[in-house]
Amino acid sequence: MDELNLQPPIEAVDVTRVRVMVDAIRARTTIEVVDEPAALDLAGRATVPDPKRPGAVIFAAGVEDVVTVMNLANEFQIPIWPVSKGRNWGYGSAAPAVENTVVLHLERMNRILEVNEDLAYAVVEPGVTYRQLKAHLDRHHPTLWCDCSDGPPDGSVLGNALERGLGVTSYNDHFGTLCGLEVVLADGSMVRTGGGEPGRCHTWNTHKWGLGPYLEGLFSQSNFGVVTKAGVWLLRRPEAFASFTFDLARDADLSRMIDIIRELTLKGVLASGTHVVNDIVALAVVTQYPRELVGRCSRLPDATRGEMCRRFTIPNWAFGGGIMGTSGQVRAIRSELRRSLRGLGRLTFITDGRVRVLEGFRALMDKLVGQPALQGALGSIFRALSGKSVELLPLIPHVHSVMKGQPSDYFVRHAYFKSPLPKPEFAHPDRDDVGGIWFAPIVPCTGQHVTALIALCRPLFERYQFDFYAALLMQNSRSMIVLMSIFYDKSDASETAQAKALYETLSEQTGLAGYQVYRTGTQGMAKLFKSAPEFARLVRQLKHALDPAGILAPGKTPP
Ligand code: ADP
Repeated sequence: MDELNLQPPIEAVDVTRVRVMVDAIRARTTIEVVDEPAALDLAGRATVPDPKRPGAVIFAAGVEDVVTVMNLANEFQIPIWPVSKGRNWGYGSAAPAVENTVVLHLERMNRILEVNEDLAYAVVEPGVTYRQLKAHLDRHHPTLWCDCSDGPPDGSVLGNALERGLGVTSYNDHFGTLCGLEVVLADGSMVRTGGGEPGRCHTWNTHKWGLGPYLEGLFSQSNFGVVTKAGVWLLRRPEAFASFTFDLARDADLSRMIDIIRELTLKGVLASGTHVVNDIVALAVVTQYPRELVGRCSRLPDATRGEMCRRFTIPNWAFGGGIMGTSGQVRAIRSELRRSLRGLGRLTFITDGRVRVLEGFRALMDKLVGQPALQGALGSIFRALSGKSVELLPLIPHVHSVMKGQPSDYFVRHAYFKSPLPKPEFAHPDRDDVGGIWFAPIVPCTGQHVTALIALCRPLFERYQFDFYAALLMQNSRSMIVLMSIFYDKSDASETAQAKALYETLSEQTGLAGYQVYRTGTQGMAKLFKSAPEFARLVRQLKHALDPAGILAPGKTPP
């Protein structure tokens, strides 16, 4: 490290120097800067433990502002932490890794610059959200769909993709669907990857590899540049669409089910956006802790969890996804799914027509609120016919539409599972001081690896007294992300300490077992590269070449 003459890691940026830079921005530019203590307290909030407060927040309105800010950051030697929308909940939100780093907020750069309908791509700025892109496509380009995550609809399309977030359709690998980046480097210079924008190169947004070294990866999960514009590939709206859910009957078949999902994905029957979820994930989505246990239990007692699962008809493991194509393709996929999963559990298909029927039924149930006997009888009939509790009715339309790339506020609210607050209409876990840490190792997609990792992690959740939350996400046909969440009570110091200890133990134990995380937040950066010293050295060399003074996002790549 010394031989590269890199900046040593710092504990905190000197706040008096930050003030000098803020004064210079105000004196020399019209760029908005916020540095009032109350606003900085809010900006430094995150669902993870011990987030760092920024020294100021700068709001760039365009790429020229980003260049100006980088030049000033160099002049005053002040580190900058770029965020697009700052909805990186569970991984550090909008907070920097080092105290008093200046956050460069890009949410005001929110233009959809181009949509190419023939070639199915858009060029967007970092502040463009899933909600915005979806609404724009529905209104102006109905032949196109975008992918989205089941995370915040107001998250940034680019921010999520740069962190290699996952979606729900065959375009679920969000970084994989970026093509053509405009980047401002740490020295304030601007570069376009590949051949550059149309006019200079017609394939900037259609040919990912460009010519020569492929450099776009340098700007993903890194601190090598501020991405100010990018091409993002879109899906052609399919002729037919159905979604499905599958409830696994026996835990012992989990490994077999994973192998079946892999084979279906390798054969192209399923899209890689398939999600498998355990009971705690499903409970968090459809309900909250029983009121009397909120703040009293860091983990649901087994009997309570079992009783809640029976009431909501939630199995230990379920999976779901979307099927799209021509009508013939969708029919063929449905029968292939039926054939492959026969005897393992209950498979349910959902179509737009079925959603309408279920919504009508739900409206009828709501009307019968004054007649509990009739309501109960109808509920029992529904349960007998569908195998599902009527309490799951509100969930079904959301599952169906998210699989089409329609972002939804419904799922993010599951972060409030243990919160004393009722789930709000618009979730904002930072605002509401909700505690949550994502831990996301990735494994080869075999039943053996997935069950081995679960067997390693579940007892650790039990040891530290947290609910074992596991969502298994197909990253591609060959790799599966085992996404775990530690929900904890931020107002309880000892529970927060336990959550941190669990996170550390999970990182250590899974690392020793040879599993890497696919993504990490500010809390996990430092130790990330312990098992890959040569790789870490190369990353440091690149950092040194591009940003010798350590201006961009200190703490984001290996120190
Ligand atoms: P979202 O709001 O979509 O969840 P964020 O804006 O919180 O995403 O971004 C997550 C992380 O990705 C940030 O903390 C930062 O490290 C990185 N990042 C986001 N946008 C950019 C960008 N435009 N340029 C460089 N890095 C970025």
